[in-house]
Formats: sequence, structure tokens, C-alpha cells
Amino acid sequence: MPISEQQIADRQQGVEKRISLACQKHQRSIPTLLAVSKTRTAENIRTLYSSSIKNFGENYLQEALDKQQQLTDCNICWHFIGPIQSNKSRAVAEHFHWVHSVDRLKLAKRLSNQRPSTLPPLQICLQVNIDNETSKSGFMIDEAVNAAIEISQLPNLRLRGLMCIPQKRETFAEQRQPFEKVARLLSSINQQLPRHTLALDTLSMGMSDDIEAAIAEGTTIIRIGTALFGPRQ
Ligand SMILES: *Cc1c(COP(=O)(O)O)cnc(C)c1O
Repeated sequence: MPISEQQIADRQQGVEKRISLACQKHQRSIPTLLAVSKTRTAENIRTLYSSSIKNFGENYLQEALDKQQQLTDCNICWHFIGPIQSNKSRAVAEHFHWVHSVDRLKLAKRLSNQRPSTLPPLQICLQVNIDNETSKSGFMIDEAVNAAIEISQLPNLRLRGLMCIPQKRETFAEQRQPFEKVARLLSSINQQLPRHTLALDTLSMGMSDDIEAAIAEGTTIIRIGTALFGPRQ
């Protein structure tokens, strides 16, 4: 059975409740809710759009472009959050407002070169490989500062912050640790940026299973799929 509009509405209410309770508890401001709509239909997106969610995140280029075509009447802010092969960078630079998954210098340079001059700068986050996983993409912590300094000077991009996808952890205290590291890295980058460079203001962290831990550590964009739309097939 496809998920009904009512089920999506109920889930949205549940997610917003979790977010507001956690923000109260940890004295944080409400982060932007990025609805992760990979594998979901354009109609599912429309349902949330109608109840005031404007930011949607997609992982697969062709699937995202198809849905964008069906939603041209909506004023959606589109975020690309999946891995990007170099031969796909041009389409990403042309069709998205944000990219959270910038994981190498070469990709940042391509996106900057390929961003159409008719559009505002592409808003980007650097993906940080916070658990040092050889299988995962992203900058290692010790290379992130130098990468951020270089990328912050590229034209046509606006470096906004850092994104991470930590390994699963069991407890709340354990879940907080990688998010705390990323938050500290953001401060450290801000202290080392060249003069006249805009400070990074974005932490893209937290998914359905670790919403509260990410909020405790000051996330500003929380990326939620399952908790809004139900389990993926
Ligand atoms: C799928 C995905 C999410 C959402 O994960 P859920 O556990 O379904 O909330 C968030 N971020 C990225 C990068 C993803 O690929």
C-alpha cells in the first residue's frame, strides 16, 4: 500500500513534535527540516509542500530531475545529498539550490565552473567522513580545514557548512559524539578562514534515528526521510 496523505500528515506532526521537544530540552533553535524524498513520488512531495515544507533532498540525479519536472508549479528549494560522479556534476550545478555532498576538491571546482551565471551561487556543504570509514566518501577531519579554505574562495559557490552521515550508534550519548566533532570542526574552520570570507553557518546533521542527538549538538538542517514517509521499499 502506498502511504496515504493522512499518514504523511500524521508523521509530519510526530517529527515536528520530536524536533520542538528536543529544542526545548537542549535550548537550541529549531533547525530547517529537510524532507528526504528519495524513492518517494512527486505526489508525496506535494503533500508535504502543501503543509509548509519547502526543502526537499534527493540522492539520485535522474529521479530528482523527473520529479522536478512534475513540480515546476511549486516553489521548492532542492537539495542534492547523494554521491556525485564527475560526469553528473553539470546537471547538479544547473538544477539544485544546495549540494550537501561535496566530498572532494575537484568536485567543488567543477560545480563552481559549471554553475550557470544566471543563477545565484550554489549553496554547498562539505561532507565530512567523521568515522574515518574507508568505504565512505567525504573529507577526513584533518584535511577539512584546508579544503574549506580553498573552496570558500571559489566563485559561483557559497560554502555554508558541513554535512556528516555517522555510523549507527546505540545510545544517545554515543550518537552525540560525531555531531559534536563536526560542530567543533565548523568553529575551527571559521577561526581560520581568510579575511572577508563569510562565516560557515550550517551543520547538516541528523536523520530519523538521531534527531535528538543532532539537535543537542546544534544542527541547523536535519535530513529526515523514514520518519516522514515511512520505511523505504
Ligand atoms: C536517505 C538519507 C537520509 C534520510 O535518512 P532516514 O533515516 O530515512 O531519515 C538523510 N541523509 C542522507 C544523506 C540520506 O541518503
